[in-house]
Amino acid sequence: MSELFAQLWSPQMQTAFTVVIVLLIVLYVLSIVWVVRDAYMRGVTWYVWGIVALVPIVGLIAYCLMRPPMLQIDRDEQELEVALKQRQLLKYGECATCGYPVEAEYVICPNCHTQLKNLCSHCNHALDPAWTICPYCATPVGGARSSQSSSSSTRTPRRRRNATSPSSRNRSSSSDK
Ligand SMILES: [Zn+2]
Ligand SMILES: [Zn+2]
Repeated sequence: MSELFAQLWSPQMQTAFTVVIVLLIVLYVLSIVWVVRDAYMRGVTWYVWGIVALVPIVGLIAYCLMRPPMLQIDRDEQELEVALKQRQLLKYGECATCGYPVEAEYVICPNCHTQLKNLCSHCNHALDPAWTICPYCATPVGGARSSQSSSSSTRTPRRRRNATSPSSRNRSSSSDK
């Protein structure tokens, strides 16, 4: 029996055994380093996961199962993209009263029913409350300022952009705090 053992425990076997042990230790240390680094990049509490990873194999498997699916940098980028898309969709800022997002053509805030625009009595276009004349059909707003209509009617803006840009600029500047 002892002979067999001595035969098995030859110097070659001993070397092979040592190599395997060293490799396992290296793998163990690397797994901890990987968990800490990966947890850090994913924006979770990396030191907690570093302690969990100290448990050989089980800690590593637990982390692989429970780690967040996205890198922190990817998550930030996605949030930014979503915010940008929202801004593009609701091009024209928010309600001055309640902050609800409103578009350029909204006449009334859908949330708090604040009057955002006046409607032209002639062509039903949405008009900025500050305007005294409809830029689409040159009808004076409120009807009181008929004298201004004759002078302004000669250069009625034809493009929609011209009509909506002053109001959108006003509102976007008010939303920038
Ligand atoms: Zn509102
Ligand atoms: Zn009009």
